[in-house]
Amino acid sequence: MSTDHDLGTILPGLEALYRDLHRHPELAFQETRTAATAARRMRALGFDVTEKVGVTGVVAVLRNGAGPTVLLRADMDALPIREETGLPWASRERSTDERGLDSPVMHACGHDVHVTALIGACELLTRRRDAWRGTVVAVFQPGEESGLGARRMLEDGLLERFPEPDILLGQHVSPAPHGTVAHCPGVLLGATDVLTVRLFGRGGHGSRPESAVDPVVMAASLVLRLQTVVSREVSPRESAVVTVGTLSAGTTPGAIPAEAELSVNIRSFAPAVRAKVLAAVERRIQAEAVAAGAPREPEIVPLYRLPVTANHPASTERVIAAHAAEFGPRAVHRTGPQSASEDFGLLAEAAARPSVYWFIGGTAPAVFARAVVAGTVERDVPHNHAPTFAPVPRPALATGVRALATAALVWLGPGTTEPGVP
Ligand SMILES: [Zn+2]
Ligand SMILES: [Zn+2]
Repeated sequence: MSTDHDLGTILPGLEALYRDLHRHPELAFQETRTAATAARRMRALGFDVTEKVGVTGVVAVLRNGAGPTVLLRADMDALPIREETGLPWASRERSTDERGLDSPVMHACGHDVHVTALIGACELLTRRRDAWRGTVVAVFQPGEESGLGARRMLEDGLLERFPEPDILLGQHVSPAPHGTVAHCPGVLLGATDVLTVRLFGRGGHGSRPESAVDPVVMAASLVLRLQTVVSREVSPRESAVVTVGTLSAGTTPGAIPAEAELSVNIRSFAPAVRAKVLAAVERRIQAEAVAAGAPREPEIVPLYRLPVTANHPASTERVIAAHAAEFGPRAVHRTGPQSASEDFGLLAEAAARPSVYWFIGGTAPAVFARAVVAGTVERDVPHNHAPTFAPVPRPALATGVRALATAALVWLGPGTTEPGVP
């Protein structure tokens, strides 16, 4: 499908929409203005729109004959960061987060690019409705940065109330030259597990340790013992991280407290490594309590978990071929796994369907090329979550719209085999 003419027609409107969203960023689960905007635009395109799916999520469905169902996902939330781009469309908004902390707010991760590109891709698809068959499910997801947005939408029936997807597609803007796309046929982003652990001892007087079981000593020993999970049980060819992020116990120097609480953050890539690390962490927690003669077993509560974002290799190769045809082969790159996490993987895991997630460039190619030559990409090209992160709107949006529409047409377009075949 040649998208040039239609894209040129819709880009000015999309850029205006992007600037508006960028000026009005909203924190996780507060995306009411963004959601209302997306819902209005999608209704205008003829989609069947449902709002408040998973707090502030929006699901828009377009049925266009028999064929595969393609789920396209964009996240909507911004970050509690003060914008320092100096751009005319910079945010001056402030907001209060769920802990009651007031902070400036900024679209520092580029989710405004994602929302606008999804609306743009859907507009292209509706303009070319005669060129494809199937169903498009556009998902505007809240709270990606909180790690809870995809889960809230799933809990609210995303996969039961709306057409079941045959393939899930998503993308993220990155500090690479606009007009380029980066793919990874396999695990792209790591898994995260966060556990809250309570160790129970027996409280007593600080002068009489023989009458108590000291959870502070248990916790101290456990923190050190957890450091050996990765160093002694994970192969040097694999990788994982175990970090104890919080640790608290006791209220007064004169007493041995009754319990201690710590939170453990675990990062991994391979499912087998993840399972092994989780089991090893739990084994050490239980063993520490046994070793101390604790009166009760420890309590281990998973706070949240994000699976790896694992791209389906064969489906990814199909999108790579389509993107190479759309952007030119030199604009399509292959990348290795990144240490960040995403909750897009939760949607694919829950649907038990193949998924493809890729990066689109949003930076001016000249800025990027200069930094590459100088060896200063890390310093001179603003990255996601930096207060200076500023994708160049029109070309970044053009990249995102083309990438998403082209990928959707791999499944919806002519020449597609039967539904369900990834
Ligand atoms: Zn982010
Ligand atoms: Zn992001």
